[in-house]
Amino acid sequence: MARKLAAGNWKMNGTRASLAEAKALASQFPAPKVGILLCPPTTLIGAMAQALNGTAIQTGGQDCHQNTSGAHTGDTSATLLADIGATSVILGHSERRADHGESDALVRAKTETALAAGLVAIVCVGETLAQRDAGETLDVVRTQLQGSLPDTIDADKIVIAYEPVWAIGTGKVPTLDEIAQVHADMRSTLKARFGADADALPLLYGGSVKPRNAAEIFAVPDVDGALVGGASLKAADFSGIVTAL
Ligand code: 13P
Repeated sequence: MARKLAAGNWKMNGTRASLAEAKALASQFPAPKVGILLCPPTTLIGAMAQALNGTAIQTGGQDCHQNTSGAHTGDTSATLLADIGATSVILGHSERRADHGESDALVRAKTETALAAGLVAIVCVGETLAQRDAGETLDVVRTQLQGSLPDTIDADKIVIAYEPVWAIGTGKVPTLDEIAQVHADMRSTLKARFGADADALPLLYGGSVKPRNAAEIFAVPDVDGALVGGASLKAADFSGIVTAL
């Protein structure tokens, strides 16, 4: 059985005033039965980790550089994220793959660096609408999984997030059968490569998860939680998703 995780991705949203939402969430879940993680923009990671210190809620980053340090103006390494209190980092999100041309090989390099810095790596995969329409979904997801993960895994340190690109921020969600098909295929792909350890890897679904649809998505086999964008910005919304898990 994989552990359960509700992860929020604030993307490029949130100012210091938004830390009140993180604190409100923490006060609602003093002893949660599932993992809860918030990934604010880089500017807020240190302050959020401090604000959530002593609570059950973890703080994470949304990306890191593949190197640990050096001449990379404007970039942030996994080591620097860990230094300011991040415990996890989202890697290979489709917005980074699209906006910054991130390849599977680069995502794998970032994953290895994040793991070496002691962070949990949340590795994202997912097909575009054109790929789904062409019947390529499973092939695309398998290729991304194979290319973005290192050769050995520690199930406590890696999380996979399946996020169909066309479901992100659109209010469109795959059918429950479609989610089940991809998650089952991911589990068997991971088991074929990593053996029984893959049973313990949390497989998150992401893409227009809301309080109203979370419970039915979480009831799908091999869905161990969610990676949530818009509905993670407000404690009132995100708490409904955490409760459903
Ligand atoms: P939405 O929940 O806003 O669709 O975003 C999903 C996502 O991209 C999380 O990483």
